[in-house]
Formats: sequence, structure tokens, C-alpha cells
Amino acid sequence: MEKVICKAGNVSIGSGKIVVQSMCNTDTLDVAASVAQCKALAAAGCEMVRLTTQGLRQVRALGEIRDVLRAEGIDVPLVADVHFNSEVALAAAAGIADKVRINPGNFSKDHEVAMAKLRELLQVCKDYGTALRIGLNHGSLGERITSVWGDTPLGMCNAIMEWLRVCVDNDFYNLTLSLKASNTKVMVEAYELLYKAMQDELGMIFPLHLGVTEAGNGDSGRMKSAVGIGSLLKEGIGDTIRVSLTEDPVNEIPVARMLVRCMEDDSLNAASREEYIVKVGYRYGKELLEGGSDDFTLQGSIAGKPVSEAEAEDIKDILLQASRRRFTKAEYIACPSCGRTLYDIESVLAEVRKATERFAGVRIAVMGCIVNGPGEMADADYGYVGQGAGKITLYKGRTPVEKDIPQQEAVSHLVALIEKDR
Ligand code: SF4
Repeated sequence: MEKVICKAGNVSIGSGKIVVQSMCNTDTLDVAASVAQCKALAAAGCEMVRLTTQGLRQVRALGEIRDVLRAEGIDVPLVADVHFNSEVALAAAAGIADKVRINPGNFSKDHEVAMAKLRELLQVCKDYGTALRIGLNHGSLGERITSVWGDTPLGMCNAIMEWLRVCVDNDFYNLTLSLKASNTKVMVEAYELLYKAMQDELGMIFPLHLGVTEAGNGDSGRMKSAVGIGSLLKEGIGDTIRVSLTEDPVNEIPVARMLVRCMEDDSLNAASREEYIVKVGYRYGKELLEGGSDDFTLQGSIAGKPVSEAEAEDIKDILLQASRRRFTKAEYIACPSCGRTLYDIESVLAEVRKATERFAGVRIAVMGCIVNGPGEMADADYGYVGQGAGKITLYKGRTPVEKDIPQQEAVSHLVALIEKDR
């Protein structure tokens, strides 16, 4: 089967080596802070860095960030994360970014117009040698798709195949694809379907960028990524990975590296609890997602000492929750934050977690902005979304139910909202 290779700057994706990447959570307009974070990520072993690129001002800032990095000899490829505006994508692709990430469906509600805008972008990417990622997330499919296939893995796969056909028809191959979800089962199924569709229909495999979106932080964030990304890597699916954590993005890199190492050594002997969690997710995730038995005891060691019964049980609970088999705590979907984030998401997530952890099985989304947050929180039961400076809007499912609450009151309103429904 032919494997397509995508080249972004000096990095090849799809050539056999798994490329580790991350995303800045700085304001892209803050060039100094963004440069510092790109440098920290590159020093930690990040091989590609994405930056939020909402508008033309951010495209110019991205150019400045690139110039400073290159002048200092740091050649990590930069990816412009463009969500809605095709003009911004065109500007970023025209010699500024090494790669541009888009969801063409967001370019226009009119599918024909969106396709025309994608064709225009493909030509600019060809002219400048810029790579592209087409990324669709669960929960952000348009009505045209969901009315036929629902908001399902199959819908995600069919939606991205429409855009992929446009690329192939226009002889554009410098491309990666992603179908992320915060639900590990949905995410794994979507990528598997896409892999098969590429094989069956096109006879070639485009490189896949794997990630579990809004995975949250701490042990559960690491476990969700290990289960989702690890299940696919184990099957030989995936070429570049991003472990998305609601923490300093530098923390994502060692976790991603641990996951890649599991492909060589999947024993449960780990140097740290963090590595043990990653190894457990890699070892058992796929089996559990497919309904395999959960009647096992975790073995192995951490830092040379056998894992204690209590720690093994605690980590197994986290594994079963990440594999969507047993919910013993509330489930958190939290965006990793980016230049659009309207509050300190790490401390808010900790506050929300403390106040709501007892609501076992309830899915709570903590999202940094109103622009993408509601679309990306997919199947959350409740959402805490940044509305504006110091203002939060609470959601029940997809419906905003309390708007513009002062941030200091928002957690107690969220708790009251959940309690009222119980
Ligand atoms: S929800 Fe908003 S703030 Fe959070 S990562 Fe997505 S775009 Fe950034």
C-alpha cells in the first residue's frame, strides 16, 4: 500500500518515525512569550509547534516568531492553526507557516463555496511548498453531514473523505489528516474507518495526526491519550501525535515520547507513575475499548518497586474510565488552552474538579473560549465556557443556560445546575 509522505519544513511525516508535536498556549500576538514557549517545546523534544492564528495580525506575528527562531538556529516547523477564515489560511500558507491546519467545512456554510476556497488554498500551498492538515473534530461536523450519518465516527470519516477527494483531484498530497474526539472510543473508531477508507478507495494512506482532544490534565488526561493514541499506534495507525493536556504544553512532550517508546517495550515496568499510566493505557486500552475482559490485576513496577495493590487499583479505575468501561468519578473534557483562552484554565479546572468530582459519570467540559469551546465539547453533559473577560457561560448539553456569570460565581452555579438535575 502506497504511503504518502507529508513534508513540513525539515520534518517528514509518514516516513515511519512517529513525529511528536504540541501547541503553544500563548497569545500569538505576544511574540516574545510565543518565541520562549516554542524554544522550550523544541528543547523538550517537540518536533513541530502549532500556534493559534485567528486573523491576519496573528499571521504577521507568526512570521516574526518564525524569524526570531530561525535567527537563533531553531528550525522546528511552525503550524498555523486557522479555524474559520480562508483568507487567513491563504496568508499563512503564503510563505509564513510551514504547515496550516484547517477544517474546510468552517470556511463557508455553503459546501460548494467551501470546496472552492479549499482549492484556492491548495494552489497557494503548492506554490509555497506549505503542508496542510485537514482536521475535523467530533462535535464540529456540520448539519449536512450529521443529518445523514449523525455525529458518529462514520460521519467524521465520510466528512473528511469529501475533503480528501478534493485534494487528490487537485494533485495535492502534502497533507496530514486528523479526526480527534475527547471520547476515546469515538476517536479510535473514526481513525480506523478513515484508514480503511483510504486503503479501499484511494489505494494510498495519507499520514494521520493522532490526538484525543480536551483530554484534561493529570493522571486522567495522560491515560485518555495513552488509551486513544496508544490503541491506534499499536495497530500501526498514525504518523504524528499530540498528547493534549490542560497544563504547560511542555509537559505533553515526555508523555508523547513515553507512548512512542511503548511501541518498542510494552512491559509494565516504569520509571515513574506517569510512565506507568502511559504503559497501562497502551497495554490495555484497545482491548477494553473493544469490550474485552476487565477482570485483571495490574502488575509491574514503578521505579524498581512492585506496584502496590492500592496504587494498581487506583490506576485501574482511571484506565476503565478512560476506556469508557466504568465511571467512578465525573468525567472532564478540558481544552488544552491556546491564544484564545479567556481565563487561567489550569486553576479553574482544578476548582471545577474539586467541586464536582463526586458526580460519577457526569461529563463536564471546561473550555477556554466561546469561539470553539461549545463546538469542541462534543458529548459533554454540562459546559463551563469562557464568554468574555471574567465572564462565563454555562451549558447544558449544547444549550447555553446561564450567560455572562461573573467568573468567581460560576463554579457554584455549575454545581447548583448539576444538583438540580439529579
Ligand atoms: S476551546 Fe478555545 S481556548 Fe480552548 S483550545 Fe479551543 S480555541 Fe483555544
